[in-house]
Amino acid sequence: MIDAVLPVYRRSELTITRGEGAYLFNENEKAYLDFASGIAVNALGHCHPHVVKALKEQADTLWHCSNLYRMPLQRRLAERLVEATFADTVFFCSSGTEAVEAGVKMVRRHFHMKGQPQRHRIITLEGAFHGRSFAGISASGHPQAVEGYAPLLDGFDHVAFGDIEALKAAITPATAAILLEPVQGEGGIRVLNADYLKSVRALCDEHGILLFLDEVQCGMGRTGKLFAHEYAGISPDLMSVAKGIGNGFPLAALLATEHAASGMTPGSHGSTYGANPLAMAVGNAVLDVMQEINFFKEVNDIAEYLSSSLRALCAEFPQVLEGVRGIGLMLAIELAPSVNYREFAESLRHRGLLTSPAVAPQIIRILPPLIITREHVDQAITLLRAHIEDWN
Ligand SMILES: *Cc1c(COP(=O)(O)O)cnc(C)c1O
Repeated sequence: MIDAVLPVYRRSELTITRGEGAYLFNENEKAYLDFASGIAVNALGHCHPHVVKALKEQADTLWHCSNLYRMPLQRRLAERLVEATFADTVFFCSSGTEAVEAGVKMVRRHFHMKGQPQRHRIITLEGAFHGRSFAGISASGHPQAVEGYAPLLDGFDHVAFGDIEALKAAITPATAAILLEPVQGEGGIRVLNADYLKSVRALCDEHGILLFLDEVQCGMGRTGKLFAHEYAGISPDLMSVAKGIGNGFPLAALLATEHAASGMTPGSHGSTYGANPLAMAVGNAVLDVMQEINFFKEVNDIAEYLSSSLRALCAEFPQVLEGVRGIGLMLAIELAPSVNYREFAESLRHRGLLTSPAVAPQIIRILPPLIITREHVDQAITLLRAHIEDWN
């Protein structure tokens, strides 16, 4: 008989009932060190006091009011995101998928309103993940995500990851946008280097193409800057943001320049739950913490400590660990081909360390909350070492 919970996940045996800081607890109060943060969601750890306080206060004030009215917290969060980024305007929604969907619609509307509706194709990269809607799976084209769902949404062209010549060759007069993750998450923590991103920006400028970055996973401080594209010194025309911005509360956003957003008029898009006051209170509270003076300095210090500790572990166990990659606290260890990586991650969970296998094989993502300390890193390394010693 089918499970009462639709079986679309490979679910662990663990039951989780409570979270605090970098730890999750099971029903018997056994602690698990959470180096997955959901999947890069709990950027400030579990039940961060400042965020909890903001949510509780908002719960006593106002839960919902439609977007037909003005909401001060929505304006405040939008203005803060505009202030902190390339964007001129923000659309709020409740999941990363919806933010990507809104972006795809914005791209098409942009050219439609310019009288160029034939210009609607979007180039994406192999290994990409852009959510589970039809636009999302069609954009990614990943066989596991699309199988059985035909007909897909038309209008996406897939090119090899990180290959600028392949990208150039795929551009046609129908190309409206290039959509990519500066660091692929589900694709296995693959970082696009600054030269590639600069070249993509230049190509977009040359051909009048919109650059649409999906920072749902790599944004909101995950890489050690507020947004990953800042490392390349470029800015996009549109960007989807989710995961870390709500710290576990459903909140996402599409950020855009005035130019990219020029086609969006009243009635052209919307969302009932988008800009929900509870979500707005949480988003503002998350930004309060991330905009504290030393926040990113501390993230980068601990990221450096974590990645050098992981590298040392790789040197210790080359038969099991092939390498470490990533940036900031968006890291991955690559397991040797002989290791069953799903079993490795599952038994590591039972030992007390939670990580996240990627869709890409042999990759174990290390995505701890951004607020971890050296003690947490040391504990993780101790657990990993013991696990690898037993694995051999
Ligand atoms: C998780 C993710 C999404 C989808 O976000 P949901 O909140 O699950 O809808 C889209 N893009 C990227 C890069 C992601 O990592």
